[in-house]
Amino acid sequence: MYGHMSVAAGLMPPSYPQFYARGEGAHTWDVDGNRYVDFLCAFGPMLLGHRHPGVEAAAARQAAEGDTLSGPSARMVELAELLTDTVAHADWAMMAKNGTDATAMAVRVARAATGKRKLLKAAVAYHGANDWFTPKPAGVSVEDRANIVEFEYNDAASLSAAVSAHHGDIAAIILTPFRHDAFVEQELVDPAFARLARDLATEQGAALVLDEVRTGFRLDVHGAWEGIGVRPDLTAFSKALANGHAIAALVGTDPLRSAAADVYVTGSFWYSAVPMAAAIATVQEAVALDVPEVLRLAGERFRDGLEEQGRQVGLTVRLTGPPQMPILGFADDPDKALAFAFTDAAVRRGVLLHPWHNMFLSAAHTPEVIDAALEATHEAFAELRG
Ligand code: PMP
Repeated sequence: MYGHMSVAAGLMPPSYPQFYARGEGAHTWDVDGNRYVDFLCAFGPMLLGHRHPGVEAAAARQAAEGDTLSGPSARMVELAELLTDTVAHADWAMMAKNGTDATAMAVRVARAATGKRKLLKAAVAYHGANDWFTPKPAGVSVEDRANIVEFEYNDAASLSAAVSAHHGDIAAIILTPFRHDAFVEQELVDPAFARLARDLATEQGAALVLDEVRTGFRLDVHGAWEGIGVRPDLTAFSKALANGHAIAALVGTDPLRSAAADVYVTGSFWYSAVPMAAAIATVQEAVALDVPEVLRLAGERFRDGLEEQGRQVGLTVRLTGPPQMPILGFADDPDKALAFAFTDAAVRRGVLLHPWHNMFLSAAHTPEVIDAALEATHEAFAELRG
């Protein structure tokens, strides 16, 4: 299994599935026919549940007309208008395929606009698999990463020091809306830190980029930092944007419009219309249902249930981060042995959890689905204690 370590079953508990056959709503089936309540949601794309009827109908209608044509369809304009109407800071939008396309495009637009080189990012934070961002240095030259400068997430002194050290040569500061690194407890952003990042970017004439590839449409459909009143200049979306169809988007503010028009970014399939039709249906549904709130309630039910079940058997279980996308952890479990054992016991009972990557709720995770999953995890805890 290449890439994404969190998908490689060889690094997972022994009962973990590797190949999947299908998905429906909140459930997925592996190729051996085992059914799971899916708390991975394809690592983010599944926002409304697998094979959501409204999204699939929109995709099928577009497929009957044509997908990859000799240029964009009207869906591209409709999607751009929907994104600029929905995302508070967005004045324009451009589409691509994967999250890495969108974050790379953000960097290129920022450099084109500023004529500067340095890209400031939080240490460990994942923003994609290209030469700038890949967490594994194999196959990447030192020169390719020479303009990356790291600071500590939520650490004002560290961010200020990074800015001072490269004063006058900063193209962008890129941040995720909260700290969602693998293996460790997730951490919400300190609003003062977000404001500092905004102020420093403005003072430097640099772009503040919010990487919402993982959080997009799960926390706030108008932008993850709307609640704390901090607006970025650029936001990268992908994963959940079309409920599983392959698409990414970069949105930005008017001052960056001409730089966005100047950069050369493209791909053979970037104008494909089916994922755009699916994205329009997904975003409309996310807004109409207030999906972030639906996911928050589902996530709280799951989190509170698991934490209570842990207490009943004398284990401190913590699901940290926003309830819409929690990470599982146990107290006194430095090597994650307990998290692996518990995940294994849950997987054997039809609940697909992850021992060290954040998980995802979808709108198909109804209270009934959550309660059925909790019945299974109750038995998994009993086995752990048995
Ligand atoms: N940014 C973040 C925050 C991500 O979580 C990911 C994917 N896990 C990416 C960027 C890259 O997205 P993709 O894998 O679609 O290229």
